[in-house]
Amino acid sequence: MLLMTGVSKTYRNGSVALRNIDLHIKPGEFVFVVGPSGAGKSTFIKMLFKEVAPTTGKIYVDGVDVLALTEKEVPFLRRQLGIIFQDYRLLPDRTVYDNVAFAMQVIEAPPLKTRRRVMTVLELVGLKNRANAYPGELSGGEQQRIAIARAIVNDPILVIADEPTGNLDPETSMEIMRIFTGINESGTTIVMATHDREIVNFMGKRVIAIENGLIVRDDAKGVYGYES
Ligand code: ADP
Repeated sequence: MLLMTGVSKTYRNGSVALRNIDLHIKPGEFVFVVGPSGAGKSTFIKMLFKEVAPTTGKIYVDGVDVLALTEKEVPFLRRQLGIIFQDYRLLPDRTVYDNVAFAMQVIEAPPLKTRRRVMTVLELVGLKNRANAYPGELSGGEQQRIAIARAIVNDPILVIADEPTGNLDPETSMEIMRIFTGINESGTTIVMATHDREIVNFMGKRVIAIENGLIVRDDAKGVYGYES
């Protein structure tokens, strides 16, 4: 699903974010990327959807050579990915329904299919009865659930989440993780950068620890593993 070989990143100002990363993630895996602030997690995540290009190395997502994609082709890669951020990134002036439906309208899905699918994913994240509300009327956890619904509505090959529980309390974070678990159990690969020690330890999934741009640990059923 994801293959990185010899990936490094040095930003223009000389900051070295990643050093010679080799990594393979198989279809259906649930992978946490952990590490202290400044370790390189966001850089790693952004490379998966070509928001950041590596200085050296190769990246393949589902067999596609990401670096070979032209600017015009990048949106097609992104449409196959479900991307979730710490700050939700919803459209405040659109309803819950429209925030999710928008992702299907972009790919010109037929209206009837859109309606059915949007209601299905809203039900999956427990927001079916809030379809006509606006994001600002909902709690942080509910807003993140909208973002998750939007990320999965087009059946992505890979879900990428950057600190998705970063703004949420522990109980709400656990609810969010239950939703991610369900998505993963239905076969979708998930890569999640997080600072959340409790969640990582509770989930018992693969943990890739990055420190100072290097993978310092890669455990199949890992724990968070250091003081942050
Ligand atoms: P993390 O997500 O683990 O906090 P980042 O990937 O954001 O780590 O950052 C890794 C390193 O790269 C840090 O030293 C950071 O200062 C630097 N960095 C990140 N983004 C940029 C950027 N756009 N320009 C310059 N340096 C950056």
